[in-house]
Amino acid sequence: MKAVKRTGKRYNLTYRKKTASDDPYLPRGASKKSALCGDCGAVYRNKRWYADEGMTAEVRKDPETKQTVCPGCRKIRDNFAGGIVTLRGDFILEHKQDLMNLIKNEEERARGFNPLERIISVKENGSGNIVVSTTNEKMAQRIGKAVKKAFSGDVAYHWSHDNKLIRVEWVRE
Ligand SMILES: [Zn+2]
Repeated sequence: MKAVKRTGKRYNLTYRKKTASDDPYLPRGASKKSALCGDCGAVYRNKRWYADEGMTAEVRKDPETKQTVCPGCRKIRDNFAGGIVTLRGDFILEHKQDLMNLIKNEEERARGFNPLERIISVKENGSGNIVVSTTNEKMAQRIGKAVKKAFSGDVAYHWSHDNKLIRVEWVRE
């Protein structure tokens, strides 16, 4: 594990593209019909997922719509994390609610871009840290950036050697 610099990040994107079809959570093959996630209401159409209330209402009425569970919800069910964000430091004690609200808002915002970017869990561990696990690395990076932007402190990003898990460490004493 090492901190990733800008060049490393670019490499990582290429790597993800090449192996995207190996992701066991992505549906195989193209479907002409829409599919609806029964858990969160996301709609699968033209090889991608949408979180759009209008679209969800429309496909719900269509008897041809296939019911499924989207990859984001399956990762949540399986507790299959692609990112782990740890927030630590004395600052947390006084600002817990603000941090929790920010994390929730980031998830809502990300859902607009990609409904598969989700939070699996938010936990407080015994040492007073907040630990957030996410379905993919982008969601974890978003949280790291947002917390740093809103509350300063220090943030670091560490990828696992196979690039499948990112650990985001934020600290403010
Ligand atoms: Zn879903």
